[in-house]
Amino acid sequence: MYRIDHTIRLLKAAAVDKKEFRNEETRPSAWTQFHCTQCGEANPLLITPYESGFPILSLYDGTMPKLKQEELLEHKALQHTHQSMLHVGALTVRDLPTLYFGTDCHKCNTPHICIFGYGEQQPGLEILEVSGVWQYAIR
Ligand SMILES: [Zn+2]
Repeated sequence: MYRIDHTIRLLKAAAVDKKEFRNEETRPSAWTQFHCTQCGEANPLLITPYESGFPILSLYDGTMPKLKQEELLEHKALQHTHQSMLHVGALTVRDLPTLYFGTDCHKCNTPHICIFGYGEQQPGLEILEVSGVWQYAIR
């Protein structure tokens, strides 16, 4: 799990076994796997609320974004945030605070990015939603 410091573009989407976790499924961590876009190897994804990931804003915001907003929308990685939730960012996963991390296939080292949202969607309902895992390339 690492921060991405390069300008990147998204390539192929990887298959992810389970994408939505609710309440106790997120504690202490949500666990699933993605299948490498290159070699098919199953790679574990362990996402711990409030620990895992970096704000996705740091990738798409600013005048020199590391990842273009249009590209995130095209790949359905993020959607436009509902007006009432814009304080969490212009683009999110289901209006939740949205994070990402880089992770490389443990077998062939192909780089991938995991994008997920986590938060309380309504009182008493915490959702962790993995929007997906994509292979990426440095521009
Ligand atoms: Zn691989």
